[in-house]
This record gives sequence, C-alpha cells and structure tokens, in this order.
Amino acid sequence: MAFEMLKTERGKSMLSFNGYIFVKEKESYVKSIWKCNQYFKNKCRGRVHLSDRKILKSTDHNHVPNSTDTNVKKNYKFTKRNSYQ
Ligand SMILES: [Zn+2]
Repeated sequence: MAFEMLKTERGKSMLSFNGYIFVKEKESYVKSIWKCNQYFKNKCRGRVHLSDRKILKSTDHNHVPNSTDTNVKKNYKFTKRNSYQ
C-alpha cells in the first residue's frame, strides 16, 4: 500500500493514500492516526493508522476519492513529498 507524505508551505503534514488526503489527528509513540480531510465537510470517518512508515489500518470513506493529484495541487502548496511503499 503506497502512500505519500506531504508537507505544505505552512509546515502542515498531510498524507496521500488511495486518492484521499489525510491530516494528522493524533500521534503517539507507536503510531500516528490520520483523519480524512473531508472530516468536517462530509463528516467522513475515514482514517488511517500509520506505524513505522507503514499503513496498519485504513477505514472506509463515505465519499469517492476527490483529492486527485491535480485537485490537491490546486488546493495546497507542498514543499515536500516523500513516497513510501
Ligand atoms: Zn474521507
């Protein structure tokens, strides 16, 4: 499951996975939890759990992936992009 870690101009970390964009919700010693950026707009419950640069778990979204690469680039300016497998 490949994903990308993104960093916006403002220094905010985001994660791109399966065409969805996530923002960091919580981070602990062992893992970090990311919530869908449609959380407020669509009340989406989609989340991913990440540990050691691996996706441990991902939950379903209530919408189609709307964050295609082009859309994402239009909405945010990223300074950094790292891909992981
Ligand atoms: Zn979602």
